[in-house]
Amino acid sequence: MRDQPADARLAAWAAHPAHSRGRRHAEAPPQHRSEFQRDRDRVIHAAAFRRLEYKTQVFVNHEGDLFRTRLTHSLEVSQIARTVARALCINEDLTEAITLAHDLGHTPFGHAGQDALNHCMQPWGGFEHNLQSLRVVDELEQKYAAFDGLNLTYETREGILKHCSRNNARNLGELGQRFIEGLQPGAEAQLANLADEIAYNNHDIDDGLRAGLITIEALRELALFNDHYERVRRRHADLEGRRLINEIVRGMIGGMVADLIATSEARAAQLDPRDIDAVRRADAPIIAFSEGLARRNRELKQFLYRHLYRHYRVHRMTTKAAEVIRRLFESFMRDPLLLPPQAFSRAQAQKDTRGEAGLARAVADYIAGMTDRYAIEEDERLHDPRART
Ligand code: MG
Repeated sequence: MRDQPADARLAAWAAHPAHSRGRRHAEAPPQHRSEFQRDRDRVIHAAAFRRLEYKTQVFVNHEGDLFRTRLTHSLEVSQIARTVARALCINEDLTEAITLAHDLGHTPFGHAGQDALNHCMQPWGGFEHNLQSLRVVDELEQKYAAFDGLNLTYETREGILKHCSRNNARNLGELGQRFIEGLQPGAEAQLANLADEIAYNNHDIDDGLRAGLITIEALRELALFNDHYERVRRRHADLEGRRLINEIVRGMIGGMVADLIATSEARAAQLDPRDIDAVRRADAPIIAFSEGLARRNRELKQFLYRHLYRHYRVHRMTTKAAEVIRRLFESFMRDPLLLPPQAFSRAQAQKDTRGEAGLARAVADYIAGMTDRYAIEEDERLHDPRART
């Protein structure tokens, strides 16, 4: 695709669809869309994307209708990242495709589910949610006659694979190479990663306050929060409740986005990369927060870890959730005939070719694809004698 002209509206160091490293299976170019728009559209039409609506971010889906789910989280990440992409003249379509796909591989019950499944899978190479997102788009979605998966471009797949152990990277060919050589991904992938942080740090504050697990007074120990609290207070002395929280949180998001744009612009001017490969080879990411904001952001993450993710009510829920995952995994491994027919045939085929490891991976794929609700119901159907099977 190298001989097509690059898009003049984009920075030289952005991902240009005309210079894409392409798809794993050759396809005719799209007629009315760019290659990255096609990727985004394939993600939106995927079954795994629809399931994000019923997967936990921090609060389990049935705890309340106003909390973020993986779907609304992914939309917020996408919105934040697209604003920054447009300001920096990097590829907004690719940014959108990556951000909408970035959590496709998440298990039910958020990090508790991922940790539990990773624990179960230890004898067979573990479970990594980033790698699972890639498995979803490379293998697990079954929509097209000619190939498994969604056959996305290299650049979208590069962005989805945010982290990867060196062991697993060795099996991923060109895509895994950067984890072995310590290279950066393209700018759009770097941006998706930081937009993810901006989104979850801020919406977890919002959801944590809504759930009554953290308080504004406690949050004011954080410089980042307190600055915005005081700014809002100066303008609106009597503001209270949800509007006060919203004004603070939107100020924080806006401040982080402005810092990210300014810092990345300065880094781009300094590094002056001639193309996306120069971004990949650079010593440090081109998309970054300033040092000051990065430090404040770390303080915020530590606060949320101590006060929200380890809150006893969240901890009780995540402990129950981890038990559900463990019970499902153990039952299916002990007796694969308990799997529904489609999952069983896949597990049987993988067991025939790769033994126990193949069976375990198929069981992990089945469990990882479940929504919170489906996992809870499946656990009841399997383990509660009074439940319908
Ligand atoms: Mg995320």
